[in-house]
Amino acid sequence: MKDISCKLLVIGAGPGGYVCAIRAGQLNVDTVIVEAGRVGGTCLMVGCIPSKALIHAADEFAKVARFAAGKTPLGIGVAQHSLDFTQTIAWKDGIVSRLNNGVAGLLKKANVKIVTGRARFRDGKTVEVETLTGLQIIRAENIVIATGSAPVEVPSLPFGGNVISSTEALSLESVPERLAVVGGGYIGLELGTAYAKLGSNVTVIEAMDRILPQYDAELTRPIVKHLNGLGVKLVTGAKARGVKGDALLIETADGKDERIAADKILVTVGRKPVTTGWGLEEIDLDMDGRFVRIDEKCRTSMRGVHAIGDVTGEPMLAHRAMAQGEMVAEIVAGQNRAWDRRAIAAVCFTDPEIVAVGLSPDEAKKAGHEIKVGLFPFAANGRAMTQEGEDGFVRVVALASNHLILGIQAVGSGVSELSASFALALEMGARLEDIAGTIHAHPTQSEGFPEAALKALGHAIHI
Ligand code: FAD
Repeated sequence: MKDISCKLLVIGAGPGGYVCAIRAGQLNVDTVIVEAGRVGGTCLMVGCIPSKALIHAADEFAKVARFAAGKTPLGIGVAQHSLDFTQTIAWKDGIVSRLNNGVAGLLKKANVKIVTGRARFRDGKTVEVETLTGLQIIRAENIVIATGSAPVEVPSLPFGGNVISSTEALSLESVPERLAVVGGGYIGLELGTAYAKLGSNVTVIEAMDRILPQYDAELTRPIVKHLNGLGVKLVTGAKARGVKGDALLIETADGKDERIAADKILVTVGRKPVTTGWGLEEIDLDMDGRFVRIDEKCRTSMRGVHAIGDVTGEPMLAHRAMAQGEMVAEIVAGQNRAWDRRAIAAVCFTDPEIVAVGLSPDEAKKAGHEIKVGLFPFAANGRAMTQEGEDGFVRVVALASNHLILGIQAVGSGVSELSASFALALEMGARLEDIAGTIHAHPTQSEGFPEAALKALGHAIHI
């Protein structure tokens, strides 16, 4: 097989890698992308997109089930309801396929060459790829490492059989009667909530003393309330110890051994960067813990080698990977770019949703800031009432001195869509008066944002 030489080689076609390759192609950089699986990576194939499809299907099913049970004040009744889970999964797979083909088309349109197979470093300028038709050698002036992340395994609960990761949880053949979720972070809770709505009896085991420990208790309280309402059992301060027959063995907070009967055990204790098994060790890059160390231009310690996305650290989010990918492509094309982002919003697609950007009140105080905090509850928002979404709030954190906004958080039904204006406010350096002075359309949930800013200024209108 003839060797390939190119200006840019991207390893991994997740959101970081494929965005980098498309942007480089647009800038006429001669680009090759290598992908071991299908283009789209974790996010498109087994992450963001399929999980949100499953969550949507579960929400719709739960809604109909509620109507059928007569548990709605809306006066809607449903005579019969059913779930064809094979059809649900096929619908989800259809969306994934459409997007996968779309990304392949965009790469083609940008004149990016796709090589399918696992890349392995030979040296800092050369990679070999085991393809279906033989070994392909690729030499490149610049290499971008975008190999992403993989689920972390718990040693006493190795993946296999009924012990599954999020990947398998997105393609089950049927809804498990009893599901144990080990790890109460956002992935475990998103999937655990979806299965609870689809009819599973769900138990969440979390080692810390509360779920979603990276968020403050004020933000997570509505989620705990809804999980309780769904019948999800939360066991906090507990450690998973192993599996025996059809049970998960745990040690509870008070040191007792307990069995949790489960047909499937979903382990979602975190994700680890993909940095081993493909020759990265041999080129001996500086590391930052488990992650590849990068500077503000996503350069690694080796000249001509960049790294982007989950392999470079937290927050392990698709939109961060994409922004880094776009930036690196422009740097390789000769532009002067550096990472100067202020805001990367994080969303939990739980029920209700959480969106957080910038500093929480506790984080701002810990950083030594004197702050003003404004909180506006959705219980006082007309649109939230008309959508039965009164649980939750918008909270704004600003400097007490000049009212510069440091952080914005919200919890509530559908608040993921508010992430755009929250991130924009931080990125543009908005002050409380800027948000309070921006006319927000009525009736929308977004009105909670200027109201929270007004509250911080001491004169909210609707509370
Ligand atoms: P990845 O998407 O992991 O892509 C890396 C690619 O590299 C993979 O396709 C892999 O096959 C390939 N690869 C690895 N090694 C090699 C090699 N040696 N040769 C060739 N190819 C290789 N993020 C959000 O922002 N929002 C969400 O709602 C969200 N939901 C999620 C839900 C779940 C269930 C999971 C698991 C993740 C979710 N994430 C979400 C996280 C998101 O998927 C990741 O942050 C994102 O995919 C990271 O992109 P990446 O390009 O760094 O790596």
